[in-house]
Amino acid sequence: WSPMLTCFRFPRHLLASALRRFQGRLSAGAAIVLALALFGAHPTTPLRAEDPPRPSQVVIQPGDTLSDIAVRFYGSPAAVERILSANRLSDANVIVTGTRLVLPAGTPPAASTSTRQVVVLPDDTLSGIAERALGSAAYAPTIAALNGITDENRIVAGMKLALPAAAGARSSPPPAPASPGRSLAGQRICLDPGHGGKSEPGAAYTFPSREVLREADVTLDIATTLRAWLQADGAVVTMTRTTDTFVPLIDRAAICNMAGAAIMVSVHLNADKSTAWDGAMALFGKVVDRRLAETLNAALQLGLGRNAPSAPFTAFGAQQFDGAVLLNTLMPAVIVEPVFITNPGEAQALIAPTAQATSRRNQIVLETYRGIRMYFAGS
Ligand SMILES: [Zn+2]
Repeated sequence: WSPMLTCFRFPRHLLASALRRFQGRLSAGAAIVLALALFGAHPTTPLRAEDPPRPSQVVIQPGDTLSDIAVRFYGSPAAVERILSANRLSDANVIVTGTRLVLPAGTPPAASTSTRQVVVLPDDTLSGIAERALGSAAYAPTIAALNGITDENRIVAGMKLALPAAAGARSSPPPAPASPGRSLAGQRICLDPGHGGKSEPGAAYTFPSREVLREADVTLDIATTLRAWLQADGAVVTMTRTTDTFVPLIDRAAICNMAGAAIMVSVHLNADKSTAWDGAMALFGKVVDRRLAETLNAALQLGLGRNAPSAPFTAFGAQQFDGAVLLNTLMPAVIVEPVFITNPGEAQALIAPTAQATSRRNQIVLETYRGIRMYFAGS
């Protein structure tokens, strides 16, 4: 935030439409300055409930759709019906550039379930918005569904998106537990959030609503919070990825080798065609991996079995697996599969981000953290 920008006093809705119309021609820097002027704060701050006053009319611009206009002025495509009837139009697909549309007063019914909104910034992605506003990229499909977005790549800077009311506002991850003596002081730990990127989502669970929970998003959230806990305990942590990107397995091993890590923990979620399965498993490849896998598996099985959303929570134990990240690392390495994302109860429990202290993801962080502490305590 810069006080220089408080000199902007243009009506916000005019700037919003200007930003939208010229977003293709503005440089990224200019667009950000405009966005800052619009929202008067750091660009990641979501718009507050008090929206700019809505004009009573709007002129349809080239490329506009009624759905765009509904989202822009009412925060939801659900307002299309109201705009249609206020203008005595029958077909939302037949609108003419230059036509003046009446914007009916009041709020569409959909707005009562989604009071928060966020404005799309230049180069935003739905995952990035979900992460920023709701604490986890896993909410991206929910935001897409709520706003009638069918192609997640087609979001435009300046567009307003409604956020699900049920999801909590972003809060910082819960503080790490008290750690007298910082028992991991100086330990180099490499964390590998499994999968990543559009081409490699890992396993996934599709809810009846068609929303999809991707393993790659959940593992990134878990590993990121686990990193904070380990750092609070004095560890020096390297991550093989910190965003939703594809990283080849051999590169993941190389990143951990280059970091001189004492251990590598690769975080995954298990999956099976049979949705009844649940339980913890840890995989080792090299001889030196075995004690790490057995220690982490013991912590995960005991801690997560206690709070499992559905029984039974099967003990799959520590198993040998010739995984590339295991065989190409120079240090003890383990792939943890704490729970099954394909189990409906687990999938439901896995939606809540680690920012929620009682979430299933946070239980996984806690038990993995405990396992790592136990491993170093015993070596
Ligand atoms: Zn996996």
